Amino acid sequence: MTDIHDVIIIGGGIASHTAALYTARASLKPVVIIATEPDQLSLTTLVENYPGFPEGIMGPDLVTNCKKQAEKFGASYVDGFADSFEIKKGYFEIGVGKKKFKSRTVIISTGASARKLGILGEDKYFGRGVSTCAICDSALYRNKVVVVVGGGDSAMEETLALYKFASKIYLIHRRDQFKASKIMQDRVLKLKDKVQIILNTTVTEVLGDGKFVTGVKIKNLVTDKEDTIKCDGMFLAVGHIPNTIIFKGKINLDDEGYIITDKLMRTNVPGVFAAGDVQDRIFKQAVTSAGSGCMAAIESEKFIENLKAGGKY
Ligand code: NDP
Repeated sequence: MTDIHDVIIIGGGIASHTAALYTARASLKPVVIIATEPDQLSLTTLVENYPGFPEGIMGPDLVTNCKKQAEKFGASYVDGFADSFEIKKGYFEIGVGKKKFKSRTVIISTGASARKLGILGEDKYFGRGVSTCAICDSALYRNKVVVVVGGGDSAMEETLALYKFASKIYLIHRRDQFKASKIMQDRVLKLKDKVQIILNTTVTEVLGDGKFVTGVKIKNLVTDKEDTIKCDGMFLAVGHIPNTIIFKGKINLDDEGYIITDKLMRTNVPGVFAAGDVQDRIFKQAVTSAGSGCMAAIESEKFIENLKAGGKY
């Protein structure tokens, strides 16, 4: 059974690297399976609320530093998308294409991906005007008109990123007030020269010329009035969907697909833990993700110790 690892961590965000750091320091030789899709923190710019960095730290730097720190203590990384998960007798098996990895414990920290609206034209023009990452794409919209959809902190952050480049930004939200934090709202509300806020409104269709986005259709939810906005891009900031497809039917998920964990980051399957955005529908902060990664790691270490002392799953 030497080909069975003690702990496999699935995911590449700050929860994963923190879990890797702790389990590596506990001599568990963690293997981290890391997919190509960037984690949420790597898609952000300056992180101002991670304790210990009074001047802030760039999101990608924070993640890279955590990975380096885990590697320094012996964590190893495998590039690839985990596309299967099986509960076997005495171990778990994770598939990455044709490769199979076996492990006594698993820490799932696969994060969450950007939600889409599911409207006409959205998929057709994705990457050709429709984007879920202003931080990545805002420079392409120099002197262009864009629409940002959403009312949370991400929508504010996308608007702030686009403000440096775009000539005009329509910030469209379906309710009469934003749910974003006050500090983020205040930053956006100051930008009246370029930012026009449209409330109680949804985008109903993305329009284009066959190649690129040329506008969006909108509908006021109070008056039912429909309208068209000419624009070159639409940025979505309407929340995230947890990446849990391979665990469905095997691990308990809530009604939105988040993994259900207890206070010790345990799932309903003994030996399987979850950390970060994949199990957090409330906080979704870098610091809470790192914290949950740490907790999952400590608990997986205890679980392994118990197994090695003759305990069972
Ligand atoms: P949120 O879930 O906070 O906000 C999503 C927004 O999208 C809500 O306003 C929601 O509307 C709206 N929405 C959802 N579905 C639809 C839909 N189908 N059509 C139209 N609108 C829709 O997600 P965020 O990504 O903004 O933030 C996630 C977490 O990350 C939060 O905890 C946030 O604080 C944090 N974060 C912090 C940042 C910072 O501090 N700098 C930056 C970015 C994120 P409704 O209001 O009606 O629910």
